[in-house]
Amino acid sequence: MTYIIAQPCVDLKDKACIDECPVDCIYEGERSLYIHPDECVDCGACEPVCPVEAIFYEDDVPDEWEEYYKANVEFFDDLGSPGGAAKLGNTGKDHPIIAALPPQNHDD
Ligand code: SF4
Ligand code: SF4
Repeated sequence: MTYIIAQPCVDLKDKACIDECPVDCIYEGERSLYIHPDECVDCGACEPVCPVEAIFYEDDVPDEWEEYYKANVEFFDDLGSPGGAAKLGNTGKDHPIIAALPPQNHDD
């Protein structure tokens, strides 16, 4: 099981969650962050610090963002399991679901 990051993170990426993760499994894409499904230890520490409530336990993802489970998993198809996000930094890529989104407005 894992936690996942959904649409509210897209184009915001304030990274508050990264500081809370004890296993450094929250990776940076160009427009969103992604949780590694195999490296996440389900501690839940990241979820309450997200200012826009983008983080969900996989069983609790709202229906409208159901596809973000797939996005978080498939994001790592070619990265594998790096064992730590800090050393990678910004990977400069996004899952196609996120890449296809129009710019997200976080002003309100
Ligand atoms: S705290 Fe929330 S909005 Fe900020 S980077 Fe993490 S998931 Fe994205
Ligand atoms: S639930 Fe824990 S291990 Fe998983 S991403 Fe959040 S802080 Fe990291």
